Amino acid sequence: MNDLLTVRDLESRFKVGGGLKSLFSPKTYIKAVAGVSLDLKEGQTLAIVGESGSGKTTLARAIAGMGEDASGEVLFNGQNVLALPKSDQKALRRDVAFIFQDAVSSLSPRYTVRALLLEPFQIHGMMPDDPDAEVTRMLTLVGLPATMADRRPHELSGGQARRVGVARALALGPKLVIADEPTAGLDVSVQGEVLNLLNDLREKLNLALLVITHNLNIVRHVADHMAIMYLGRIVEIGETQDIFDHPKHPYTAALLSANPTTEVDVADGRIRLEGEVPSLLARPPGCEFHGRCPFARERCTYDPPEVRTAPDGRRFTCHFPLGPDGTPTE
Ligand code: SF4
Repeated sequence: MNDLLTVRDLESRFKVGGGLKSLFSPKTYIKAVAGVSLDLKEGQTLAIVGESGSGKTTLARAIAGMGEDASGEVLFNGQNVLALPKSDQKALRRDVAFIFQDAVSSLSPRYTVRALLLEPFQIHGMMPDDPDAEVTRMLTLVGLPATMADRRPHELSGGQARRVGVARALALGPKLVIADEPTAGLDVSVQGEVLNLLNDLREKLNLALLVITHNLNIVRHVADHMAIMYLGRIVEIGETQDIFDHPKHPYTAALLSANPTTEVDVADGRIRLEGEVPSLLARPPGCEFHGRCPFARERCTYDPPEVRTAPDGRRFTCHFPLGPDGTPTE
């Protein structure tokens, strides 16, 4: 498999405050994503996992060249997305597609499915010779009948709308598809269908998939690799099965423990998270997870852990990683 995406030391910041009220609240920059490095090959699926506010959507936007204020390196097919001139960003939009989480509201109610599916071609000045045949091809690709072309979004079920969203994302033949909470708002019975569709399309079209989710069942269903984010940083990244079998970072273990269908074998049962997620405006010193970590020691309060690589290739940031029995090994 060829490398498609290489991200190194990516940082993305938001500006808050300023404006008319700046005397009272001067503008401040919040680092929403910090020091992120990851790799994705053609045909692979990487799930970015984290609680809400962990920075996973900001990370996805930065990778797609839609970041607010991003620095570092995002190499897509060898090109640094963050340094691309405006004129080349349109071409990037063809190669990197988004599937948005709110399927129905991401489709304009004024248009028919046919018009919605042809819109990406119009925007990029690439209208097919036979638009009707193209619409039928796209609908067939996502398992919908050609008769759907005349419907409007409010006439579709949640699952059908999600399939139209997937077809639209694939219209221009992207190499990377970013799916943000791909099954949000869908009935459980339809969720499996949508995940199977994404898996099938990834295989058939040799796509790379980046799936943003807080749902570990989705991760297990579609992703061969996963990255766990906390306060905008990746705390553990590697093969999904290795991480599910033996999480090394206490935060990963706590997330897996909180999921009733993942049977994580940790020392005395389950790791429970204490306290609240700290504010991005006041990142804790040392390991940023130390205030909630059941295994924190004094060193964790002042010494930020470096990225370490385990023998199985996964990377993690913890001074005292967990062993197979769920207790620190060092
Ligand atoms: Fe817990 Fe310390 Fe590891 Fe941070 S470095 S996750 S506080 S044990």
